[in-house]
Amino acid sequence: MKNHKIYPVQKSEEEWKTKLDSNSFQILRKKGTEYPFTGKYNDHFEEGTYKCRGCGASLYDSSSKFDSSCGWPSYDASIKGALEFIRDTTHDMLRTEIVCSNCGDIKDMSSKMDQQQQENVIV
Ligand SMILES: [Zn+2]
Repeated sequence: MKNHKIYPVQKSEEEWKTKLDSNSFQILRKKGTEYPFTGKYNDHFEEGTYKCRGCGASLYDSSSKFDSSCGWPSYDASIKGALEFIRDTTHDMLRTEIVCSNCGDIKDMSSKMDQQQQENVIV
């Protein structure tokens, strides 16, 4: 599914390529996936706020981060309004794409959602 929403932060593909390193560009803009246990913030549990690499918007408070042992940073809640949950039914699967609501950077693909997140789903 192509996301046609207009986000407050708008950049062309070329501008994103300039702003992000090539690995981040693939992950944030092209639905690439970081290898598990390789991310800088996987084992990071300091107090603070996790921000979008693309636009700097605050996404998660450190109090919501937990050790899921899955290899990627995990949070049980996002900062209110920081993320959008977009239903993706391509490849004959029902998944949810989690994106920054300020710039549209992709944060996660999930096959399940909790009740609160479902209320925010954009179809
Ligand atoms: Zn962003």
